[in-house]
Amino acid sequence: MTTEDHNVFAGAFVDRSGERRKDPDWLNKALRSNDSRFVPVWGDQCLVAGEPLQAQLLRREQIEPLADDHELIFLGIFRDHPAFAVPFPGDMDAPFAEVGEFQELRYLGTVLSADEANLVAHARALVLWHASQVFCGVCGSAARPGAAGNSRICTNDDCRREIFPRVDPAIIVLVEKGDSCLLGRQENWPEGRYSTIAGFAEPGESLEDAVRREVYEETNIRVGRVSYHSSQPWPFPAALMLGFTAEARSEDIVLNDGELEDAQWFTREQLTSGTPKLPFRISIARRLVDHWISLGNND
Ligand SMILES: [Zn+2]
Repeated sequence: MTTEDHNVFAGAFVDRSGERRKDPDWLNKALRSNDSRFVPVWGDQCLVAGEPLQAQLLRREQIEPLADDHELIFLGIFRDHPAFAVPFPGDMDAPFAEVGEFQELRYLGTVLSADEANLVAHARALVLWHASQVFCGVCGSAARPGAAGNSRICTNDDCRREIFPRVDPAIIVLVEKGDSCLLGRQENWPEGRYSTIAGFAEPGESLEDAVRREVYEETNIRVGRVSYHSSQPWPFPAALMLGFTAEARSEDIVLNDGELEDAQWFTREQLTSGTPKLPFRISIARRLVDHWISLGNND
């Protein structure tokens, strides 16, 4: 599989083997097996080494002195090995200095193989989710990992609520009108960089509703047809980017909600000229823009 088939961080390279999450005998064996591989996440960073960089998948003997089995998260089967994420608090010294170094996932998405990018994004997302759900949101009691780290369970016997990992749906849309597309930029972005319109879906909205609302709020443009393109896990910390294309029914840009510093209509010629700067290569925004540019080549 290549990145032409899916967005960076996606790709289902880990067989999640959901039935194993509630199979304590199998899990106990896998946890202690030399065949298993362990993906350390220190704070929000992942361990890599080598040239080119590779994700470091550790063996039981390497993590044993440091890891708490109750905190291990079963990810699934990766390259025929059971794989677990292993969380390490970011306020401790970085472990495994003799193996490699910890790096940010945004950078790793640009250098790791597609399957390793998928694996470490999965690991990081679950580690960060656990760190954000220490207590039950209903009764305030401590929550502990359940389902081999794929849920958390309230420890209050009167509550026992099971909490599942959250994914936050966010729309991202390339709006087109004739030979132009609509891109905007936020004030804190690198100079000259523009990207597609994006925002989180809100309760009670369909994704199409969210596309139309976000585009209107940010640029005052009214959108008609909305078509799905592709999606991308974006674990910074928990978004799922849902990519769309849409047709504009109006042209006059007004920055209604002030979220953008600027928004403009750009032609394909402008986008391929080097100005503006395009979205980062690993982002679905870039894929939407590249796809739209390529459609012009087929005319
Ligand atoms: Zn509770």
